Amino acid sequence: MAELRRDPLSGNWAVVGYTKVKKGDINICPFCPGNEGLTPHAIREFRDPEGTWLVRCFPAASPVFVIEVSESKRAEGLYDKMGNVGAHELVVENRSHTKTLSTFGEDEFVAVIDMYQDRIVDLKKDKRFKYVQVFRNHGELAGSYIFHPHSHVLATPVMPHRLDLELANSKTHFLQKERCLLCDIVSQEMRQQKRVVLASTNFLAFCPFASRFPVEVWILPVFHSDSFESLEDQKVKREFAALFLAVMRQIERVTSSYTIVVHSSPNMAKEVYGVEEVTVSEYFHWHIEILPKDFTSSKYKREDEFYTTISSLPEEAAALLRQD
Ligand SMILES: [Zn+2]
Ligand SMILES: [Zn+2]
Ligand SMILES: [Zn+2]
Repeated sequence: MAELRRDPLSGNWAVVGYTKVKKGDINICPFCPGNEGLTPHAIREFRDPEGTWLVRCFPAASPVFVIEVSESKRAEGLYDKMGNVGAHELVVENRSHTKTLSTFGEDEFVAVIDMYQDRIVDLKKDKRFKYVQVFRNHGELAGSYIFHPHSHVLATPVMPHRLDLELANSKTHFLQKERCLLCDIVSQEMRQQKRVVLASTNFLAFCPFASRFPVEVWILPVFHSDSFESLEDQKVKREFAALFLAVMRQIERVTSSYTIVVHSSPNMAKEVYGVEEVTVSEYFHWHIEILPKDFTSSKYKREDEFYTTISSLPEEAAALLRQD
């Protein structure tokens, strides 16, 4: 029923007609150990030597994007639409129901990074998917009503609008200066030291110059790298986990609601983004955006990168509003 439609004015794709499956008993957490039967079968699980799961990944019960649909692009007059082909998976990050990121241990968070990377690499094998995004909503203000620590992995047949803008601006900068935009931002932030939150040998956390949210923080490698999933060196991964968790301890002192998004390179054939002399791996630089929500000045609900209209199609909504 749901489909992807493109708004010709903004260029944004929206998922319309999405229906959420009715949830069971809201007092039982489906992500807690012992309740695995309440979720679909795991796609991937990391277990300890005794066989107890530590991190679990399974398909979302109410997916916004689904594997089994045709991606065929269709037109309706001047409008474009297509099937909401893709994948929507959930990652339960820890057995503990009450842990928040500020109380994760380094090892525990490295296991979460491993799961994100595993899922991104796996989903990128399907060339129908243009982009794989990982995001995490925490707290009711960020639109998350299950407290148990979890994140979403979404593989989509179209690029999220913000990523398209980031790619376009990074590319323009690269074509003019032959340098990566985020590499340049890293050097300027390091030099100015005005917006730096924390820095380690290989990573930098800073508040972006034109923040969209109060206390917004970006974390990125200081060396050039286009994809989050290519971070393989265990020592560097641990360094990243340590810096990320230190930032989250500070963030959780000022807010209990936030969205975190991982911006990694798109899943595109060279010819799409690299017909010219440059390739996306030269000009795109992966980063993580932490978007706090708990401030009166910020009315934003969840910062999903796709607008999702629940249940009613615009055609049905118009019919409803036409009734006497
Ligand atoms: Zn739970
Ligand atoms: Zn770079
Ligand atoms: Zn970004």
